[in-house]
Amino acid sequence: MFGLLSNDIAIDLGTANTLIYDANQGKIVLNEPSIVAFNRISKHIIAVGKAAKEMMGRTPRDIQIIRPMQDGAIADFEITEGMLRILIKRVTQSWRSTRKVVVCVPQGITEVEKRAVRDSCEHAGAKEVYLISEPMAGAIGVGINVFEPKGNLVADIGGGTTEIAVISLGGIVVSESIKIAGDEMTEAIKNFFKREHSILIGDATAEKIKIEIGSAYPLEEELEFEVTGRNLVNGLPKAIVSNSEEVRAALAPTVNEIVNSVLKLLDRTPPELASDIYTNGIILNGGGALLKGLDKLLKETTSLPVHIPNDPLKSVVLGAGKVLENLNDYMDVLIRGVRY
Ligand code: ADP
Ligand code: MG
Repeated sequence: MFGLLSNDIAIDLGTANTLIYDANQGKIVLNEPSIVAFNRISKHIIAVGKAAKEMMGRTPRDIQIIRPMQDGAIADFEITEGMLRILIKRVTQSWRSTRKVVVCVPQGITEVEKRAVRDSCEHAGAKEVYLISEPMAGAIGVGINVFEPKGNLVADIGGGTTEIAVISLGGIVVSESIKIAGDEMTEAIKNFFKREHSILIGDATAEKIKIEIGSAYPLEEELEFEVTGRNLVNGLPKAIVSNSEEVRAALAPTVNEIVNSVLKLLDRTPPELASDIYTNGIILNGGGALLKGLDKLLKETTSLPVHIPNDPLKSVVLGAGKVLENLNDYMDVLIRGVRY
């Protein structure tokens, strides 16, 4: 009964988005970009999340827009801590103590980074902090029984990293982690328009092109998109009509690296588990899973079934929420580590 009076939360601290699940309400209560606006002079954080994203590319000199989790690692400890603290405060009532926090971290996170995450949560008031790896949380989030002696292959294509893991008996048997994911796709689109059309486009525009017409496999009906940016030749605004075929070509090298890392992992998977995966297939989580036709391409290259959950951006935080609500059952899947 008294347990209900504390704020127990699960956090997906992603390179692109941070989500928080509240165990009292049994739902996701926060979903914001992992972006911070920082005043270089006063050294104060002035905005976090959507508000900071809106300032991107439009700030005066003193204000810096930071993505503290870039590349799947904590690029800036202090800013990450500040961001976490602000977001945790936003969803917790001050009259309740924050007791348990489950945080998802990238599989390849270093000891120093683990400590930084743990410290940040403790500074935000958490009494007990538990870490879980993203692929594990993602597997639990899509409803896999991770304790079964059965192999499951889960890939998470986020903003900064793609993490792929084979899970069996509550543990990660083999995994691959590459720093190539959604951000690289966006970058590839920017570079393509610069190189092929002499037009400079912003990050937000490039991401929009990726989401609207980006693909990994020929579409049943190819799409068009009006791209606006700055003409590199004369510096004036310029608009051109692009199509899904050329954007697919621009994305291909990045997409291939992701597919190759899945193949590499399959190659390292022990035979018994490989035969489970032959039946169970591949589960795709993270925003990158939504790239059109990625499932088809993976299916074709691996000859395995590929499943994408309804909302692949939420699997990880939902899995972490489930762990939080059943902590005793899931103790063995948490990242073990020394208490600092
Ligand atoms: P992280 O866990 O690293 O925060 P997310 O799982 O939130 O990452 O995924 C964010 C990435 O997914 C971004 O690069 C974003 O552009 C990309 N993304 C989101 N929706 C789509 C879509 N429909 N098609 C392709 N990429 C998408
Ligand atoms: Mg993620």
